[in-house]
Parts: sequence; structure tokens; C-alpha cells
Amino acid sequence: MSRQITSVVGGAPVAGGDGHADVNPSDLADVVLEYGAVDAAAARAALESAAEALPAWSRTTPWQRSEVLDRAGSEVLARADELGDLLAREEGKTLPEARGEVVRAGQILKYFAGAVLQPHGHVLDSVRPGIEVTVTREPIGVVSVITPWNFPIAIPAWKIAPALAFGNTVVFKPAELVPGSAWELVDILNRAGLPAGALNLVLGRGSVVGPVLTTDPLVNGVTFTGSVGTGRGILDASAPLGRKVQLELGGKNPLVVVDDADIDIAVECLVQGGFGSTGQRCTASSIAVVTDGIHDRFVEAVRARLSRWTVGDARGAGVDMGPVVDPSQLAQDLRYLDVARGEGAEVVGGDVLDLGTAGHYMAPALVLGTTATHTINREEVFGPVVSFIRVANYDEALAAANASTMNLSAGVCTTDLATAAHFRRNSKAGMVMVNLPTAGVDFHVPFGGRGESSHGPREQGFAAIDFFTTSKTAYTAPGSPRT
Ligand code: NAD
Repeated sequence: MSRQITSVVGGAPVAGGDGHADVNPSDLADVVLEYGAVDAAAARAALESAAEALPAWSRTTPWQRSEVLDRAGSEVLARADELGDLLAREEGKTLPEARGEVVRAGQILKYFAGAVLQPHGHVLDSVRPGIEVTVTREPIGVVSVITPWNFPIAIPAWKIAPALAFGNTVVFKPAELVPGSAWELVDILNRAGLPAGALNLVLGRGSVVGPVLTTDPLVNGVTFTGSVGTGRGILDASAPLGRKVQLELGGKNPLVVVDDADIDIAVECLVQGGFGSTGQRCTASSIAVVTDGIHDRFVEAVRARLSRWTVGDARGAGVDMGPVVDPSQLAQDLRYLDVARGEGAEVVGGDVLDLGTAGHYMAPALVLGTTATHTINREEVFGPVVSFIRVANYDEALAAANASTMNLSAGVCTTDLATAAHFRRNSKAGMVMVNLPTAGVDFHVPFGGRGESSHGPREQGFAAIDFFTTSKTAYTAPGSPRT
């Protein structure tokens, strides 16, 4: 029998009904663990527990909160190999990628352990004589944290750590596909010294527990990362109720390669950005926009590089790319390739692979001869698929890059300083990379996109305080003047 885990409400385990198996996408015979999905009543109980814990937790000192996060960060870092193995096993990114994600989660916990001790308020003289003005930050209250499957520990960490650091309490609902990494993070934080109820874990279906976690009167804020469709639904349901809502959604991220690019750098940017983590990153380089003078050489160089790109078991030695996460994502990837063929594009690669073990394996795919209007360049595939748009010059490249409506990250490969500066200034994306893959960000600076990709304040780093606190401006006049 495989390992069993449960939801956690008020510090205690809560078993659910509907059984759910966490299956290894590299080896479908391997059940990582099992849990019972909880219902709407359990989600409501988790919110009540968070609401009960709020007054005491919000009054703890910054040092107490810092110590909890610091201890949790130390444990995550110390267990990076073990947690990385679990993450690779349940999600399918390679061991180095999975371990790197766990280390990132530890760094984020440590960052917010420090950030909470920094000055966050202002004391000003009033424009009126004898009055003092203070601007302070207060927690928003009970926060629902809802996360996707593709970063099973880093995304939860970058939402939960600032939520707790700034005195909020949390109900956390991870994606159904990756309960193991979520459970470990919650367990580590609770054992690091959180009071019961400050952090609750709800393992349930989005359609069942999601509406409670976004619209219940006990919810003060919702921070969500996931697809555009789900995110828009949450905004429509919760914003009219006055909930503070932060959304990080899909990305359609162009990498522009111009004639003067260093071709080796450009190839690495595209291959790492497009096919790293099986292309299942919101910041993946899913479109290559390439100028005429370098296009054919670039495509050949990418093909040569991919001929040395090994697809296999996420935990296998020397594997560059693990499997697709589940059957429905694999079907979606293949469907987009069919649509591209139907619209006249040439697809190179993209075959379903039989590697001897039942798993969702697929070869990386290049989709050649597309334009910005092709379906594949307007919708998020979320798989190991990169489409190519050939353009005459840099101006056309910039226009094609800016045609995306999910403007999360955009990159340019060039050796010309003026082109780099122009792209940085004129890209419509929320994050811009010069001679770097569109994926791969730091944790101490803001993260987020524009257009359909984001809503609300930015996440991460020094920007996180904007969502997880609300400011209070207080005016104080002296009582009776002293004589
Ligand atoms: P998804 O939208 O299907 O699910 C995300 C979460 O929402 C899951 O936990 C799911 O259970 C939950 N959910 C489903 N229905 C709900 C409802 N009615 N109410 C509340 N919650 C509900 O997304 P996914 O397939 O897990 O993740 C892939 C998507 O996430 C991609 O579009 C990707 O681009 C995006 N993503 C964005 C970022 C970013 O920072 N912009 C980062 C990672 C992933």
C-alpha cells in the first residue's frame, strides 16, 4: 500500500472521502501516495480555523514570525535531495530541476524571514502644525492560496512565506496532481513553530473547494496562480464581493533572435527556456521570433542541439527532459501540433515516445513556418513545443513579440547594445531578458506579467508586501498642550 496523506486543519489531520492517487508520470505503475479529497465543508472548517488563529498570529512580533520562517527554510534546504526526489517523482521535472526548485523554496522562506524585520512604515510631520502622521502596514487577514501543479513547492512558498511573514493566516489548496510536496511544506512550517490554524492544507478538487476558498465571507484575500480561464472565473466571482485578488496566469513568451545574435547563446536560451521542465513553465519560451539573416542557421543549430537532448525518467541520470505531467496535458500538446499542421505549419519532432516504461513521454517539437496569427502563437500550449516566426528585421520582430496577449516574459538575443536597450524599453512583457532564457528569475525582485497574464499587485521580493498587507494612515494630535 502506498503512503497516505491527509488535509491539515487547525494543526490536525483531516481525512477526506473520494480517494485520489498521486501517480508518477515517468512510471505510471508507481503510486507516490494517496489521499482522500475533502469537501466544501472541510474547506469552510479550514477558513474558520485560519480566522480563529488570526488575532494571535497577527499580534506576534516580527522576530517570532521571522524565526518560524527561518527554521522552516533551514529544514527545506537541509532536505533538498529528499524533497527534490519527491518533487521529480510526482511532477516529472528532472532531479536537478526539482532539487533546484526545492532550494528556491528554502531561499524564499529565508528571504521573508529577513524581509519581515525590515522597516515598512513611515512617520511624517503633517502639513498641519502639531500633528504627526504614521503610515503602517497591517495584515489583510485570512488568505486563500491556490496553486498550480508545475512548481509544486516554489510557488506555494512564494505565496505562503510572505502571507505568514506579514501576519496573515492561510488556507492553502495545492493542485490535485502534486499533493506530496505541498504536504511536506505545510508539515515543515507547522513543526517550525506555527500555532495551530495559522496554516491549513486543503486537498480537494478545485471545482469543489475552490468556490468556498474564493467567495466565503471569511476570506479576505485570494492569491492564485494557474490558467487564465480559472483565474478569470475566480476574479469574476470574488472581486464583486470585495476580496483582494492577486492572479498570476498563463504566459505566451517570445524569444527574439536577431541577425547579430551570438548563435550559441541564442540556441541555449531557446532550448533551456523552451524545453526545460518539459516546457511546462509559465515563463517558457514558446515562440522564437527570428530575423531572416539568421533564421535557417538558427533552426539548424537548435535541431542539432536537440539531437543531443535526452528524454527519460525524471529521476534518471543524464536526462535533460522528463515526461509531460499527465494524459490530459499530453493530449493538449498533441492537439496543438495537429492544429498547427492544419494551419500549414511544419512540425519537426513532437512524437509520443515509447521508452519501455509506461509514462507520458514526448519528444520536443519545433513548429516551423508560423505567423503571429497562427493558433499556436495565440494560445498557451504548456508543453515541450516551440513555434518559429520568421521576420524581415528587428522592428517586425518586436511587433510579433508584442502581439502576445499573455505578456509574462520576453527575451532578446543580440550583441547590439542599442537593440537590447530598445527591446527592454519597448517590450510589453512584465519581465524582459537580454541574452537569457525567458524562464529563470530571482526571488528578491518583483515577478509578474501584463495583459491577460496578471492581475493585482506583483508577487515576490520587495513587491510581495503590497498584496499581503494593507496600509493604515493615522493622524495624531497632542492632547492638551503642555504649558
Ligand atoms: P489550473 O487553472 O487548472 O489550476 C490551478 C489551481 O486552481 C489548481 O489548484 C486547481 O485545483 C484550482 N482550481 C480549479 N478550479 C477552481 C475553481 N473553480 N476555484 C478555485 N480554484 C480552482 O492551472 P494548472 O493546470 O494547475 O496550471 C497550469 C497553468 O498555470 C498554466 O496556464 C500556467 O501558465 C499557469 N502558471 C502561471 C504562473 C505565473 O506565475 N504566471 C506560474 C505557474 C503556472
